[in-house]
Amino acid sequence: MGQPLSSITIVGGGTAGWLAAVYLRRACAERIRITLIESPNIPTVGVGEATVPQMPFTLRQIGLDERTFFRRCDATFKTGVMFRNWNTDRKGKLVSYLNPFSNAPSLDGVSIGNHFHAFGAGKRDYVSCYSPYAHMAKAFKGPFSFKDPKADPMPKPAYAYHLNAVAFAKLLAEVGTERGIEHVLDDVDDVELDERGYVAALQLRERGRHPVELVIDCTGFRGRIIREALDEPFEDYSDYLGNDRAMALQIPHTNPEKLPPFTSSTALGAGWSWSVPLFNRVGTGYVFSSAHRTDDEARDEFLAHLGAAAPPGSEPRVIPMRIGRSRRAWVKNCIAMGLSGGFIEPLESTAIHMIDQSIRMLLFNMPSTDYEAPVRRRFNRLVDDLYGEVRDFICLHYRMGNREDSAYWIDARTELKITDRLAENLELWQYQLPTQHDLESAQLFTHDTYQTVLFGKRCYENGYGAERLNTPREVRAGSWKAYLRDADIRFAKIVDYKGDHHRLLMAL
Ligand code: FAD
Repeated sequence: MGQPLSSITIVGGGTAGWLAAVYLRRACAERIRITLIESPNIPTVGVGEATVPQMPFTLRQIGLDERTFFRRCDATFKTGVMFRNWNTDRKGKLVSYLNPFSNAPSLDGVSIGNHFHAFGAGKRDYVSCYSPYAHMAKAFKGPFSFKDPKADPMPKPAYAYHLNAVAFAKLLAEVGTERGIEHVLDDVDDVELDERGYVAALQLRERGRHPVELVIDCTGFRGRIIREALDEPFEDYSDYLGNDRAMALQIPHTNPEKLPPFTSSTALGAGWSWSVPLFNRVGTGYVFSSAHRTDDEARDEFLAHLGAAAPPGSEPRVIPMRIGRSRRAWVKNCIAMGLSGGFIEPLESTAIHMIDQSIRMLLFNMPSTDYEAPVRRRFNRLVDDLYGEVRDFICLHYRMGNREDSAYWIDARTELKITDRLAENLELWQYQLPTQHDLESAQLFTHDTYQTVLFGKRCYENGYGAERLNTPREVRAGSWKAYLRDADIRFAKIVDYKGDHHRLLMAL
């Protein structure tokens, strides 16, 4: 019989390492010693600045004051992702859409997507019909400019953050060490395995041998323990997702008073460019495919896209990306979290969320010193499900693209694989809109989110499902017309058009 763990060792001092350390310190009994070992020589990846709406909940769980977080991490509110130029409309004009953190309501028990498809909405796009965030995005409002959330007939608002990744890890480190986490600045030079192949100890450059029970590998893309010491195979996703490089740059705001409350993703010739508005600067970058652009070509294209927004002499930092994951995240007594466990391109800002989920899963599946196989298997299955969900959703954006103006976009649509599950759903959704029955174990991307992408990309106007989509008989033009007629009044009641995002943050 195994004994309760008396210690957990975390290697890596990036977002993954420190988030895991602070979470575990908060959740585990004091008798479990938590040590975080971080190399003073290997920098963190230093990107990863957009999050998903679980994040406010996470801050509460780890006991981090939200206002302190805003001030220390130059944080802003994020209410969704603005996709620009990923698709064209019927006339071949490039289109943009917001994918907001709010779900579409139904009308007369039928998805408003059906009403929108059957009767149109004049000049409104799909999201503007239901989401106050679409209105806030246009007016640079933050989510707290809801006047009275209780009186809001719409679904409860949700928000996430944009944050400075380096400052966030630093804040977590401060909080963690105050709460008793042992912080060791040293390099893991070697990993000692016992006769069963379990990690027995880490060889530190300065401090020597450090014995371990459970070890969490947060060493970034390299995977110092899971891959280099335990030799766990890497499951490559390049057949599904073609982007394998990124370049990152920090630039000043062009208008600091107008802070967008959303992340932007703008399609370029061989990938897409992100823009994450922090309070004091913008984090931007280009995620691209090396099969379609050299680094020099990508840099020129990226800087041309930024234009005058990039200060003269800007030199983006190139980051090679390994897309895929460790076949198992938990092997013997080692669990990989963060980039060491795997990475899916950052289109939907999911990596920090996946770290967060892995920690929660570990708390539900905490082993004894026997590292019970069923517990490991369950944890690994949950991680599998999460990767599968995120991969499918990202693949959707490429498969349903319709740009014809570069080899990259044509290849992304026609050469990249999708899973059978996604293929089956895409076949179905030509006839009916996505429903909650179509996606098993969806934790993050619900059928509603899929529906927003399909409408945002104008798929139902452009061939796919345009004539085939069934309209349930219950859809009545009258109630839709009344709904739209009242929409502006409803939004004016909900949204405080006086308070803007910048002023809101200044007041925090
Ligand atoms: P790292 O930050 O690389 O940290 C690794 C740590 O391990 C470092 O402290 C290093 O010193 C230590 N280490 C390494 N080897 C040793 C050793 N031998 N001994 C001791 N210590 C060692 N995520 C999001 O959620 N949203 C986004 O918008 C987003 N955008 C991204 C954009 C790009 C281009 C990329 C590449 C990633 C993005 N991510 C995003 C992912 C996000 O950056 C990471 O998930 C997050 O930063 C966690 O990184 P990490 O802690 O796993 O690794």
